[in-house]
Amino acid sequence: ETKNIKVLLLENVNKTGQDLLREQGYIVEALKTSLPEDQLIEKIRDVHVVGIRSKTRLTAKVLREARNLIVIGAFCIGTNQVDLEFAAENGITVFNSPFSNSRSVAELTIAEIIMLSRQAGDRSNELHNGTWNKVSAGCWEVRGKTLGIIGYGHIGSQLSVLAETMGMGVVYYDVLTMMAMGTARQLPSLEKVLAEADFITLHVPELPETKNMIGEKQFSQMKDGSYLINNSRGTVVDIPSLINASRSGKLAGAALDVYPNEPGGNGDYFNNDLNTWTTDLRSLKNIILTPHIGGSTEEAQSAIGAEVGHALVSYVNEGSTTGAVNMPEVSVRTTEPNLARVLFIHQNVPGVLRKVNTILADYNIERQKSESRGKVAYLMLEVSGAGEQEIATLYKELESVQACIRTRVLY
Ligand code: NAD
Repeated sequence: ETKNIKVLLLENVNKTGQDLLREQGYIVEALKTSLPEDQLIEKIRDVHVVGIRSKTRLTAKVLREARNLIVIGAFCIGTNQVDLEFAAENGITVFNSPFSNSRSVAELTIAEIIMLSRQAGDRSNELHNGTWNKVSAGCWEVRGKTLGIIGYGHIGSQLSVLAETMGMGVVYYDVLTMMAMGTARQLPSLEKVLAEADFITLHVPELPETKNMIGEKQFSQMKDGSYLINNSRGTVVDIPSLINASRSGKLAGAALDVYPNEPGGNGDYFNNDLNTWTTDLRSLKNIILTPHIGGSTEEAQSAIGAEVGHALVSYVNEGSTTGAVNMPEVSVRTTEPNLARVLFIHQNVPGVLRKVNTILADYNIERQKSESRGKVAYLMLEVSGAGEQEIATLYKELESVQACIRTRVLY
């Protein structure tokens, strides 16, 4: 079943990812760009696997034509570009790579803590404009200062370790109780972290609860002369409040990598057409502005290629959905030879397993796992002693179960 697997990779998917798929003997076509919808539909009809990045939109219209497609690899963080529900309901599993760039974001944040503390961004801008302006007033070492981390997940917790090695104290706030790294301390509220920290850095997801999580009130709860860093999502900080806090001197500096609206491409776009306050923001002192580059490193790209590439291979070869974005997570690890593995994606409705077990009644089932997620369920099982003819019959019978979305048999 896994022979002659055809793969279409778009948008210049990282080479590490491409190599992983080629090493499996899959037939890989890799294109440097995304495709217009009509060409995409033409190409996608034929393939079992498609790899994309953020620009290729896999809508219901496109996926409806993708009759052979079993899996989508989003070689990026976000999956908004894919109709996940439609994909799941049609037996197409989607993988992404949410955490491959955590280290890159943590490192950028460390750099910004020092750059802000030394006003080095402003000094560099001045010198670019020909002005020598040597200052020490309001410039500090970071040793002995307190870093307040909001959101102690993959990025926040790595950052905690790096900050301590520079001699900073770390306090953090998270909605969950998170294990402290080193000598960091979890505090019971956002307010307590804001009151204690010299530097506040945000590492929470984009959620209704985190929208404008840092606004007028929170700035007033921060120490005078503190710093704010947002490398998470643009919706988390209310920018007009940040502009006020900077102008009033409450904030000694800020670094922003993400914005409520971000341009779709590179070029001369960071102006008031994008966000009404952009010009005000650009005029502030000691504000480092970067164009959403927190995770943009060669290492992160290669890690994304490896993570998504491995996920695709283990889905194609073994049916494993560990880490899938839209499918129930099921995986079975065995090394026994001569087993047939049945992968059965079906509608999550009553009575399906009864029908399946009737079909399987005469086989020797070695193991069986099932999991559901929303409208879709996934059953994985292994049978021993089935020959090619029996496997073909089994496949046909499972496909004829009314709630069946997709059956695969690996042997
Ligand atoms: P994560 O899921 O590992 O960690 C997020 C943490 O925030 C979790 O521990 C969660 O419990 C906590 N949290 C959720 N809601 C909260 C709330 N209301 N208050 C306090 N804590 C809350 O995520 P991560 O990988 O560490 O990523 C963090 C953020 O960074 C995400 O928004 C992600 O999109 C963003 N990110 C940005 C870039 C970039 O290029 N700038 C790159 C990667 C990730």
